[in-house]
Order: sequence, then C-alpha cells, then structure tokens
Amino acid sequence: MEYAQNILETIGNTPLVQINRITAELPCLVLAKYETFNPGNSVKDRMALRMVEDAEARGILKPGGTIVEGTSGNTGMGLALAAIIKGYRMICVISDKQSREKIDILRAVGCEVHVCPTDVAPEDPRSYYSTARRLSEEIPGAWYVNQYDNPANTLAHFESTGPEIWKQTDGKVTHFVVGVGTGGTISGVGTFLKSKNPDIKVWGVDTYGSVFKKYHETGIFDENEIYPYITEGIGEDILPENVNFEVIDGFTKVTDKDAAVYTRRLAKEEGMFLGNSAGAAIKGVLQLKEHFGPEDIVVVLFHDHGSRYVGKIFNDDWMREQGFLEPDQVAEK
Ligand code: PMP
Repeated sequence: MEYAQNILETIGNTPLVQINRITAELPCLVLAKYETFNPGNSVKDRMALRMVEDAEARGILKPGGTIVEGTSGNTGMGLALAAIIKGYRMICVISDKQSREKIDILRAVGCEVHVCPTDVAPEDPRSYYSTARRLSEEIPGAWYVNQYDNPANTLAHFESTGPEIWKQTDGKVTHFVVGVGTGGTISGVGTFLKSKNPDIKVWGVDTYGSVFKKYHETGIFDENEIYPYITEGIGEDILPENVNFEVIDGFTKVTDKDAAVYTRRLAKEEGMFLGNSAGAAIKGVLQLKEHFGPEDIVVVLFHDHGSRYVGKIFNDDWMREQGFLEPDQVAEK
C-alpha cells in the first residue's frame, strides 16, 4: 500500500509545468513551479510546517499551545493544517484588503480570524502586525509566528522548493522569477540555486506601492513608494528580514491591472487557474524578455490557487469596477 499517514506528509514535490501560449514571444523555455498541488493549495504549506517544527524543536510552541499569525490567508491555511494535525489552537490576523473567500476558507479549517484595517501604518495599534503581536502577548502559551522575520520561512524553501527545482530541471535552470512578499520563497530558492550554480539569475516581481525595487536599486527605504495597491500576496511597506537582497539580481514591477489581466489569461489560455500573484509573476517574466536567450530555462513559481479569487479577479463586475476589464477578457458575453 502507498499512502500518506496524514495530510502534512503530502506537502511538497509539486510538478513543473511548461507554459506555452502566453510566453510564445519569448525565445526560451518557461516552466512553472506549480505550488497549488500542495494540500492547502499554496506554496505556503511548506514554510508553515517548517516554522511550526522549528518552534516545537526550540520549545517555544508546547503541546496545547496557540499559534498566532498575521497572514494574507495562504500562510494561515498552511498553519491551520499543521495546527489541526498537531493539536494547536490557531488565530489568524488578516487585513481587510484580502478576499472574502480567504477569510471563509480560514474559518472552514478551524482558524479564529481577526480582520484589521489595511490603510494604517504598520506601527499603528490597529494594524495587523500590531494586533498579531498583542494577541500573542496576551494569550498564555501563544507563539507569534512572524513569517516576515522567521528564518525557518526561508529555510523551508532552501531545503525543499529549491532542491526540487534543481532536480526537476536536471540542474539546467538559468533564471528563477518569483513574486516577493515576506521574501521567504525568493531567498530560500535563490540561495539554494546559486549555491549549485552562481550564474543562475534570480528576479523578484514587485508591485507599484511597494518598497522592494527602489530599495534594491538605491539602498534607500523610500516612503514615497508606499501607497495602497490591489495585487494580493506580493509587495510590502516594510523590509522583512526574509528578503535577502544579496541573492536577488533585480526586481521588476507589475501593475495591478496587468497582474489581474494575466491571472485571467493563465486560466483561459493555459488552463492554469491560479491566484493574483501568478498573473504578476508571468507578466514579470514577459517584462524581463530582453534578459533571456534561446538556451535559457526560466522557472517561474506560482504561489496559490484561483478559487481564492473568484469574487475578485474572476468576477467581471469587480474587474469592471477597477477599470481592469479588457474587451477580450469578459467571462460571459
Ligand atoms: N503570492 C501569494 C499569493 C502569497 O500569499 C505570497 C506570500 N505573501 C507571495 C506570493 C509571496 O511569497 P513570499 O512571502 O515567500 O515572498
């Protein structure tokens, strides 16, 4: 018999899938590391489990304890799966920018969800950073995960995602392109791939309204770069410790409209029903066109599943309200 002893054992070993139509204008092979095959439908299952195991090993999460995290949904789902199997209480603190589906999904897997305003500074007591920290201090036996600064986040990708990409491409990968939020994915995968072959180029995809690209290029944390944006999962108004800028060769910024339009194109043209940051990532790959040659093998990582965005990106009314709907993008004519 061949079976997993619990759902956590099914995390990782996701497929690598060729992208065909959307990238037809590029000279190179483009392969997607397709992370929705994880049980929580996102790459975040990997780091969630790794961070829980690390906290257990260090004795800061004890049997019957409470896990508290500020999460845009995917990390919460990964942590919830670990909490269910391992017997912890799970509290997610989420910003009101996140889709309704994400909140409902977290509640479905037993999380207590606190919703906080987006348009306040991180140090404001109402922000989700501050609320998560406060709850973890108030609740006895609580552990604040802090995916932004927790090194086990990056480690998960150094130990699993990176080696999988290296093995699946037979060591032939030349470029890695990925959206950056906490930075765990790009830093862990990037560090692993460069340890195998320092010539591999690592590109981050950023949003307009986020500080990463400017900081990487100038070393300046420019508050003028910060303003509200729509794309979910990538870009930040802080510099998380998990973003290792040294391993990143450059950033490209993708607009909210392009991220949304390309998320819909992935579904319609490739049969890849994915989240908002996947559209940003594939548009980022297209924007980097001049960096790729015919011999190159570009791996782009797709973080999460389209089901979490049916009320937004895949909803024509929502797209129209944002001014994002192209005539060829209407779902129902
Ligand atoms: N896309 C989505 C949908 C995410 O939830 C996240 C995590 N915030 C990212 C991209 C960015 O990944 P990372 O935090 O590892 O940089």
